[in-house]
Amino acid sequence: MKKYRAGIVGATGMVGQRFAVLLDKHPFFTVTAIAASPRSAGKTYTEAIDGRWKLDIPMPNYIKDMTVIDANDIDAIKPLVDFVFCAIDLPKAEVRELEEKYAKAEIIVVSNNSACRGLPDVPMLIPEINPEHTAVIETQKKRLGTKRGYIAVKPNCSIQSYVPLITPLLEYEPYEMVVTTYQAISGAGKTFAQWPEMIDNVIPYIGGEEEKSEKEPLKIWGKVEDGVIKNASLPVITTQCIRVPVTNGHLAAVFVKFRKNPTKEQILKAWDEYEGEPQRLRLPSAPEKFLTYFEEDNRPQTKLDRDIYGGMGVTAGRLREDTVYDWKFIGVSHNTLRGAAGGAVLSAEYLAAKGLLD
Ligand code: NAP
Repeated sequence: MKKYRAGIVGATGMVGQRFAVLLDKHPFFTVTAIAASPRSAGKTYTEAIDGRWKLDIPMPNYIKDMTVIDANDIDAIKPLVDFVFCAIDLPKAEVRELEEKYAKAEIIVVSNNSACRGLPDVPMLIPEINPEHTAVIETQKKRLGTKRGYIAVKPNCSIQSYVPLITPLLEYEPYEMVVTTYQAISGAGKTFAQWPEMIDNVIPYIGGEEEKSEKEPLKIWGKVEDGVIKNASLPVITTQCIRVPVTNGHLAAVFVKFRKNPTKEQILKAWDEYEGEPQRLRLPSAPEKFLTYFEEDNRPQTKLDRDIYGGMGVTAGRLREDTVYDWKFIGVSHNTLRGAAGGAVLSAEYLAAKGLLD
């Protein structure tokens, strides 16, 4: 496999730091540029981080002395990269403007940000689930007037604890779901040191999260028609998203009704057998097993199970019949790995394997 030159835009943030670690000695990608806000520009990565390293694994050596570029200085970044990963904290309109500027400069953008997720010609990828959505890239390139530049995004971290588990059950026609998510503080780019109010506390509000958690699954389950993604209309989903005092890992409590109600054995079999293109292509970040079910009543737990298969697997447990809905269960995924940087790296690996980074 040819090696691609990758930039990390937002390299100093929580997700950017995950990218820095995941791309260390990556078989497909070499980090050749790092960018962040004008505050960090011109400093080495170590200087720019200045005590803000948020991970419990050390900063990789390769990046320590790299100079941070201003993310807005696309002319400086363009000659250095084939594509960029993007995870920046800016208002949505500014993120969309910046990502489209990169694409128009013929730099492919693999984004963690939500700004472009709603656009029907932007693929929002969970590579195990909807790799065929990459077909809309051609439509997007026409809109942007580009030869090579485009934006591919990954969905919100909250949905990755239940969408992977509902996908193998779509043949049973789920039509109504209630989901409550219990989300880690790293989802807000924070640690306990930076957010002491979260210690011994639960906050029943995460701005914008419920809308994303209800709408984004319908795009993931949508079909490509006339060069764009037409969202699915079912299942209708209602959510409550709650911040809990956990460092990493989002847990979802799910209730679901089906038009063709499956048996417990059918659900467990569907989960056990489900795999996607990343497993078939043996992509470097693909979990050996996408979905793992625990029989124990007290699993999955965020702390015990978030790191399964390098934080790229999704776990489930407590599948049981419900008195109001048909079935209920619990799902867990790692929000900054599967839900953010890891998911984006896997998407880029898929794009590379399909020649879509050339
Ligand atoms: P974060 O820790 O606050 O990092 C923000 C990054 O944005 C930093 O690199 C920062 O650079 C940069 N930045 C801030 N202002 C900028 C500007 N004016 N121009 C260019 N860069 C600027 O945030 P995060 O948690 O990594 O999240 C980043 C993005 O990923 C957000 O859109 C978030 O919604 C999304 N996301 C996060 C998660 C998660 O679990 N954390 C999951 C999925 C998606 P400086 O250090 O120079 O300020």
